[in-house]
Amino acid sequence: MFRASVFTLMPDMFPGPLGASLAGDAHARGLWSLETRNIRDHGLGRHRTVDDTPAGGGPGMVIRADVLASALDACLAADDPRPRLLMSPRGRPFDQRRARALAQGPGLVLVCGRFEGVDERVIAARGLEEVSIGDYVLSGGEVAAMVVLDACLRMLPGVMGKLESGAEESFEDGLLEYPHYTRPREWEGRPIPEALLSGDHARIARWRAQEALRLTAERRPDLLKGRDSG
Ligand code: SAH
Repeated sequence: MFRASVFTLMPDMFPGPLGASLAGDAHARGLWSLETRNIRDHGLGRHRTVDDTPAGGGPGMVIRADVLASALDACLAADDPRPRLLMSPRGRPFDQRRARALAQGPGLVLVCGRFEGVDERVIAARGLEEVSIGDYVLSGGEVAAMVVLDACLRMLPGVMGKLESGAEESFEDGLLEYPHYTRPREWEGRPIPEALLSGDHARIARWRAQEALRLTAERRPDLLKGRDSG
C-alpha cells in the first residue's frame, strides 16, 4: 500500500478532493492510505504557537524549526523510507516523470508550509526536499500537496483501468496529447477529423502522432528541445 503522511496546519482540508473519484475509490479499495498530522499539536505553550517573526525583520511569520521537527520526529520512524517533500515555490518543479517515479515507491511524506514558509534550518536537518508545483505563490502547501498526491495516486497499479493506463497521456512521451472527439459525428457544423473515422489503425496512429507534435510545437516548444527528433 502507498502510504501518504501530510504535515499541515489545516488538517481539515484533507482528504478534500482526494476523497472523491479515482483517488477516493482507490482509497476505499485499500490501494493507498492517508495520515494527516496537525503541526499545531506540537506547538509551544498554552496557545500551541507554531510560528514567529522573521529574523532580520520583514512581513509575515515563519514556522519554527523546533516545532516542525518535533512534529516530524514524533510521527515518523527514523528508518521511514519514504521521500519527504516540502511544498515550496522555491523547489524543484514537479512533473509527470517525478510523479511516476514516486508512485513506484513506498509512499510520501508531505510537509505543507503556511505564512512566509518554514525556518530554513529544519529543511536540511530533517532531509526535506523542496518541491514546487509551478511558478506562482499559493497561500499554503495543502493544495500543492493534493496536486502531488493526485498525480501519483492515479498511477498506482490498479487505480486506473487497463484501457486508461495513461501510457498515451500528455507528457508521457514528452509531448502534449492529441485532440479527442466523440459522438456526434458532426456537431454545429464541425465534423470529426476524417482520419479518425477511417477504421485504419495505422492511419489513426499517424494522425494522432502528427497532431501531438503540432500541438506541442505550437503551445510548448520547450518540450521539444532536447528531444531526439527520431
Ligand atoms: N514566502 C514564500 C512563499 C510562501 S507561500 C516565498 O516567497 O517563497 C506559503 C506556503 O505555500 C509555502 O510555504 C509552501 O508550502 C506553499 N506554496 C506556495 N506556493 C507554492 C508552489 N508554487 N508550490 C508548492 N508549494 C507552494
